[in-house]
Amino acid sequence: MNLSALASQLSERAHGTVQTDYPLAGLTTYRVGGPARVYFEPADRDDIAVLAEVVESASGVPMLVLGRGSNLVVADSGFPGVVVRLGMAFSWVRSARPEEDGTKMVAGSATPLPLLANWAARRGLAGVEFAVAIPGSVGGGVRMNAGAHGGEIVDTLRSATLFDVRSGALAQVPVGDLGMTYRYSQIHDHQIVLDATFELMRDHEDAVRARMESYRKHRAETQPGAVQNAGSTFKNPPGDSAGRLVEAAGLKGHRVGRVSVSQLHANFFIADEGAKAQDVYDLVHEVRHLVKERMGVELHPEVRFVGDFASRSA
Ligand SMILES: Cc1cc2nc3c(=O)[nH]c(=O)nc-3n(C[C@H](O)[C@H](O)[C@H](O)COP(=O)(O)OP(=O)(O)OC[C@H]3O[C@@H](n4cnc5c(N)ncnc54)[C@H](O)[C@@H]3O)c2cc1C
Repeated sequence: MNLSALASQLSERAHGTVQTDYPLAGLTTYRVGGPARVYFEPADRDDIAVLAEVVESASGVPMLVLGRGSNLVVADSGFPGVVVRLGMAFSWVRSARPEEDGTKMVAGSATPLPLLANWAARRGLAGVEFAVAIPGSVGGGVRMNAGAHGGEIVDTLRSATLFDVRSGALAQVPVGDLGMTYRYSQIHDHQIVLDATFELMRDHEDAVRARMESYRKHRAETQPGAVQNAGSTFKNPPGDSAGRLVEAAGLKGHRVGRVSVSQLHANFFIADEGAKAQDVYDLVHEVRHLVKERMGVELHPEVRFVGDFASRSA
């Protein structure tokens, strides 16, 4: 089945939005890149089951689950398959068992991480305040094991509901089976996180809010703010910081096309108006090569590149 036929089948059978050649740049924080060949925003869980049935009859079709696009660079040629983005119907938070001690919460995967942090703070619950200024979603946060200020998702996550688009299987997977390590999980591209259950700790709301405020302040002082980027470009190598290494290699301000290494924080790469996704890719490649050459350390990207990029020899 070709992708146009797949889009027609989805439109006929699902209630959500189906579009072809749908621009993705505006759905990512880098604001670069091309369209999704097929874009699907399911209206509910039934729509996701429909997606599985349609994809099953179109084996081998590439799939991308898009959260808030804050850790992604989509190629200028776009994504040559189906992009699934969970919308408002998947953005909610509630107490898991309010009749018990009320420290467990469940959140839909489209819930913004700052909303999750504020929801918990309002109830005097601690453990996710590190997420207050991470501009991702719960689903993206689980997949990436997002973290900051000494905390990460895996610390309080207890389980995640995963839907496997290839097999159609729905399962509540305990955190120990998600293979979560530093900015990594074993969740595959064909698995959709539908919701996540967290177990938090009781604390005073004022104390939780004070920590959140100090994290916000620290970021405002040390990271570039409302500009086009995707947060940390590289993962920190054991015992060191990627930003320190890029800076020590003399690469602050280093530029490819319309993308440059931030002067404020060397692990943030900033895209100017008119930048290409390929510029981001090339800058990451070049900085990685120069840091290895000058500092002897191999850096690994935290940012994910999706679609087809022209590879460069070092
Ligand atoms: C200014 C800025 C600051 C940042 N600071 C931090 C930080 O302090 N710490 C940190 O860890 N990250 C940080 N990030 C990166 C980013 O916000 C996190 O990685 C976040 O968890 C990504 O969530 P997302 O919804 O945007 O995911 P996306 O970027 O949309 O996707 C990231 C990955 O998750 C997958 N994914 C998304 N949603 C789902 C889902 N529902 N089911 C299955 N897979 C899914 C995607 O397929 C992709 O592989 C920052 C980014 C920016 C722009």
